[in-house]
Amino acid sequence: MPPAAELPVAAPPLRSRLPKVGTTIFTVMSQLAAELGAVNTGQGFPDFDPPERLRELVRRHLGLHHNQYAPMAGAAPLREAIAAKLKRHYGRSASPDAEITVTCGGTEALSSSILALVHAGDEVVLLEPAYDSYEPIVDLCGGVVRRVPLTRPDFGIDWQRLAGVLGDRTRLLIVNSPHNPSGACLSAADLDRLAAALRDTPAFVLADEVYEHMVFDGLRHVSLNGHAELAARSIVASSFGKTYHATGWKIGYCVAPAPLTSELRKVHQFVTFAIATPLQYAIADFMGEHPEWEDELPAFYQAKRDRLVALLRPSRLRLAPARATYFQLVDYGAVSDLPDTEFALGLIRSHGVAAIPVSPFCAAPPPRERLVRLCFAKEDATLAAAAERLARL
Ligand code: PMP
Ligand code: GLN
Repeated sequence: MPPAAELPVAAPPLRSRLPKVGTTIFTVMSQLAAELGAVNTGQGFPDFDPPERLRELVRRHLGLHHNQYAPMAGAAPLREAIAAKLKRHYGRSASPDAEITVTCGGTEALSSSILALVHAGDEVVLLEPAYDSYEPIVDLCGGVVRRVPLTRPDFGIDWQRLAGVLGDRTRLLIVNSPHNPSGACLSAADLDRLAAALRDTPAFVLADEVYEHMVFDGLRHVSLNGHAELAARSIVASSFGKTYHATGWKIGYCVAPAPLTSELRKVHQFVTFAIATPLQYAIADFMGEHPEWEDELPAFYQAKRDRLVALLRPSRLRLAPARATYFQLVDYGAVSDLPDTEFALGLIRSHGVAAIPVSPFCAAPPPRERLVRLCFAKEDATLAAAAERLARL
């Protein structure tokens, strides 16, 4: 045997478990924006801080020895605060012990839910444009994705096509309302129709409601939390990152009936186990002190949306004001006939503005669609800088 120094050094052959996946468009665009010094209205995150009182509470809990593992399901005061919020907003009585789980952001809420529910060969229905994190996790489970396009221009559910894919093999339907990237929202009538469509199927629902508190023009978010029939077969996911301008904290939660929660926690305890302790205590305190925060958030973001819409009015971009989320879709068809990813890559290089194309949310993007997404969770100066550059198109 040769001495160790002369043994060949080579890793065994690698077979990707996610061969179709590259780096997400959000990361690509944020990296490009940093390299090029572009205005970053691409990836969805605020360029301002969480409220000062919330940051002060984090510092306080760091000093109160809240620095070791939190309970696997989440710190009790936070689960209680979430239960109180669910009651207040949606009339749902959820048990903090058996039905609420704190997760590492909305992302883990979604991933752990899919991993807990989907067996190899199960069908999972996505409504597209669909947020990019759903499909890869279904793939890891060996599930089969069935995509149903949302209608245009309203991004509503195409009930006929949905009925066409739902069946005995459907394990899960994933719905996202308010919807990224379109800002569309499901109505109470939609939820009734959804309940009827699912009644004779074995399908669970995963409701991605991370933008639940950003709904505009007097519209109210209609949560699956408030629909008893759907809630009985659903996991509802939310994110404190969105609600408290703290996307970097990666903290969210899931609400689901006890048997579903029990399966979800089996996965959660091995994916992340427990979530950053001082953040959980700080958010729990803040929710108790400032229950009005969520009620004031729509006006805050609506003003930002209105500012962006007004700033873009003189441009050649066309848009219908977003009804929800902190994203605004713009139609660039009057400016360019390039497909959206090419257009967005050209835009950041030539005009210094990062925008997100819609086609990465789709397996089959409508060929003539010319839409990109701008994030308006930005300081007024950032919105003005983006608009000034976009006006030159
Ligand atoms: N779902 C949707 C629709 C999102 O847009 C995002 C993040 N922007 C997430 C889930 C993930 O949330 P988080 O950042 O809390 O992981
Ligand atoms: N959800 C954010 C968006 O839509 C992106 C988060 C991420 O980069 N994973 O922009």
